[in-house]
Formats: sequence, C-alpha cells, structure tokens
Amino acid sequence: MESQRVTVDRTAEADCNGCRVCADVCPKGAVSFERNLLTGCDIPIVDEERCVHCGLCVKKCPQENPVRMPERIVGKVYAAWSEDDGVRYMSTSGGMFYELAKKMLDRGGAVAACCYTEDCRGAFHTIAFTEEDMLKQCGSKHVQSQTLHIYGKVGKLLRDGRKVMFVGTPCEVAALYRYLGKDPENLVTVDFICNSITSPKGQEKYIDYLEEEYGSRVISAHIKDKRNGWNNFGNSVKFEDGREYYGDRNHDARTVGYHRGHLFIRESCMYCQYKELPRNADITFGDFWGIREDVRNPKLEMGTSVVIINSEKGQECFQSLEDRIGFYEETMENAMRGNPAILKRADENGNRKKALAALDTMRFDRVVKKYIDRDSLMRKLTRKGRALAGRLMGRRREDGMEGRQ
Ligand SMILES: Cc1cc2nc3c(=O)[nH]c(=O)nc-3n(C[C@H](O)[C@H](O)[C@H](O)COP(=O)(O)OP(=O)(O)OC[C@H]3O[C@@H](n4cnc5c(N)ncnc54)[C@H](O)[C@@H]3O)c2cc1C
Ligand code: SF4
Ligand code: SF4
Ligand code: SF4
Repeated sequence: MESQRVTVDRTAEADCNGCRVCADVCPKGAVSFERNLLTGCDIPIVDEERCVHCGLCVKKCPQENPVRMPERIVGKVYAAWSEDDGVRYMSTSGGMFYELAKKMLDRGGAVAACCYTEDCRGAFHTIAFTEEDMLKQCGSKHVQSQTLHIYGKVGKLLRDGRKVMFVGTPCEVAALYRYLGKDPENLVTVDFICNSITSPKGQEKYIDYLEEEYGSRVISAHIKDKRNGWNNFGNSVKFEDGREYYGDRNHDARTVGYHRGHLFIRESCMYCQYKELPRNADITFGDFWGIREDVRNPKLEMGTSVVIINSEKGQECFQSLEDRIGFYEETMENAMRGNPAILKRADENGNRKKALAALDTMRFDRVVKKYIDRDSLMRKLTRKGRALAGRLMGRRREDGMEGRQ
C-alpha cells in the first residue's frame, strides 16, 4: 500500500532501518541525520526550508515501500570455503566475501562493502578498486555501517559501465535497488544472514571501555577471531602500544551483550522486513552453523560459509569461483538448522532501552553484566518457579488420586 507520508522527517526508529537512501535521492539535499541520544541510532530530519515536498524520499524508502525483486528464486544452497587458509582465518565465516570480491576485481570491477573507521568506533561503506582496499572490507563489523552517498556512487559507476559488487545487510541491498529502480546487468549484490545490527553508541562505548582498561588507543578490531576455532570464536582488538585484548564468546562483553541479550541493537531489527526467501540479493552468505561433521571439509574449525543462490546471476558468480574454493551442495533445512536468523527476527529484550541508557553513566562491561546477569537470574527464577509449581501440582494430583482411591 502506498504511504500517505510525504517526507521521512523524524521517522521513528522502529520504522527506519538507517539505510540513508532517503538522503541520496533527495534532489534538494534536505535530508540529514540526527542521533537519538538514548539509543545512539540516527534518524532522518528534513530541512523544511529546502524541502519541496516531492515525496521522493518516502517513495524510495525500503521500509515504507518494501522491495521484492522480480526473478528471484530459492536456488541452490552450498557449504563453501576458500581453499586459502589465510583468507579463511581472517574472514568471519568461510572467506566467501574475499573470493567473490577478488573475482570481481580481477574482472575489472569494483567492490562496495563495509570498513571500520580508523578508531573502530564506527563503520562505513567504501568502494574498493584494488585488493589492498578490498582487504579492509573483509570481516564482520557488527556496528551499523554509515552508508551516506554509497548508493549514488554505485549508481554512477554502473552508469559508466563498470561492473560492481555491492555487499550489505538485506535492508541496505533493498535500499540500493530502490535507489536504482532496476537490476542492472553489471551489478551483483550480496547480502548476509543478518541477525541484527548494533547501535553506534554500543560500539563506541565498547571501545571506550577497552581503551580505559588498557590505557591505550584501539587501532584494529576483529569480530569472530578464530584462534580457538570458528565454533569457539572470540573478539580481539589491537592497541597502539602493541598490546592485544582477546575475549572468548562467553566472556567478551560485546559478544555476550549481542548474542545473549540483543542489548544494543537497532529497534528496526526487531521488526525486520527482509527476513524472507527468496532474498533480493543475488547471493546470500552466512555461517554454516548447522553443518555436519563432514570429511569433505577437513578444516571445519577454520570456518565454513553457507551460500544461498537467489538468481541466475548469483549462480554464475558462484560457479566462477570453482578453482579457488571447496564446496558441496547442501539443503536449506541444514542451512537453517543452527541459523534461525535466516527467517527469524531478533527477539525484543525488555532491558534493551535500560541498558542503552545505562551506557551514559556506566562502563560497557558493567552494563552488560548488570542486564545479562539480571536476565539470566530472571530466567533461572522463572525456571525454578515453574519447576516448583510443577512439583506442587504433581503432589496435589497425587493427593487427589489418593483421595479417590
Ligand atoms: C551485523 C551482522 C550480522 C550477522 N548475522 C549473522 C547471523 O545471524 N548468521 C550468520 O550466519 N551470519 C551472520 N552474519 C554474516 C557473517 O558474520 C559473515 O559476515 C558472512 O558469513 C560472510 O563471511 P565471509 O567469511 O564470507 O566474509 P567476511 O570477510 O567476513 O565478509 C563480511 C562482509 O560483510 C560486510 N560487512 C561487514 N560488516 C558489515 C556491516 N556492519 N554492515 C554491512 N556490511 C558489513 C563486509 O564488508 C564484507 O563484505 C552477520 C554479519 C553482520 C555484519
Ligand atoms: S529506512 Fe532508510 S530511507 Fe527510510 S527513512 Fe530510514 S534511512 Fe531513510
Ligand atoms: S520530499 Fe523531496 S525535497 Fe523533501 S526531503 Fe523528501 S526528497 Fe527531499
Ligand atoms: S536485521 Fe533487518 S533491519 Fe536489521 S540490519 Fe539486518 S536486514 Fe536491516
């Protein structure tokens, strides 16, 4: 249904995924972004002096008008990995991003994907024309990427006849298609199985806490560091003074806050409109958490990607990697096992807003401890309460039976 709104001014965070395409399409440069100080996420603000009420920002918004690309299929599903151990180790899953991006660069194309800012407090989309620049795009950054003007830049390259591969969250891929209004032959899109995205405030406060703890500036960050194996991933950062922090998945405050509590996520992720099959992107990748222990992949602990093909173009791109990767066909059922985020939205956590507010006065690790511990305590008490009630009910039933005998 067409929206009745004319501008995206102050769109509520629950309805705005932060893709920023509204700013890229505005002919008057009237859309800017303002941070919600509580959640740390940006929302669009329209300058009434400049706005001519053309309605384009609303028309192109992938939340107001969700994107469903034609000619998408629920295609083949693969377990896949780069045969280059170094690539696989530095990548989050099986290194499929590097392999797809390398092929695109070898073919003379460009790669639009996400890098950390220099201080690792944020992330932003860049366009790589060389392998050196593409290497900075490798790896997951769970903080939301700043995508301002990336759609326009990709559009210009495509119009100039360059091949482009665009990688982003499903909502960013949707935003790009809304911007372009078509599916150009020289564009390949890749999205990932996307649990949810972290508010910039969450990432900033995490880095603040580590810098305070170590007394040195963070110069690089690595999500899902595989030194203890892919399944047993952790988080690491390097400091200016040469030291390093590593926290495993059960102790690193960011990982615990994200994976156990969804404490710092953007609100729109709880109402995500892009948890569906077939996807809009040509290819979807992710971690193959549901993979069987399989002799066909002897280095399972180094990471395996799930690859879902959503279009003929996606199939052709995947096939072009055959000499660089190991792979075999899998089932969607196995891909979904252990990875519900393919279709399931992030759960709402009642403590999310309290935890985000607490970041203003408490250190990141203490906020996570407070709200995750309280959460686990509540769950434990609920479980104990239920068990006790069950026992009492059982006793009453037994008493009743005794009475009837
Ligand atoms: C926020 C987020 C949530 C995810 N949730 C899941 C999940 O629930 N289940 C699952 O199986 N996989 C998830 N993934 C995907 C997974 O972590 C890997 O990114 C993916 O499998 C690709 O791994 P790779 O080894 O092929 O390449 P990698 O080298 O790890 O490539 C990662 C690619 O994603 C891009 N990227 C990284 N961070 C961002 C960002 N913040 N915004 C936009 N693009 C980004 C990079 O530029 C790169 O192109 C998530 C990724 C992110 C960024
Ligand atoms: S979802 Fe994207 S296009 Fe829509 S209002 Fe938010 S930032 Fe703008
Ligand atoms: S209505 Fe038109 S001019 Fe006004 S903010 Fe939206 S796109 Fe810009
Ligand atoms: S969960 Fe949905 S709304 Fe959130 S970043 Fe991913 S695709 Fe966008």
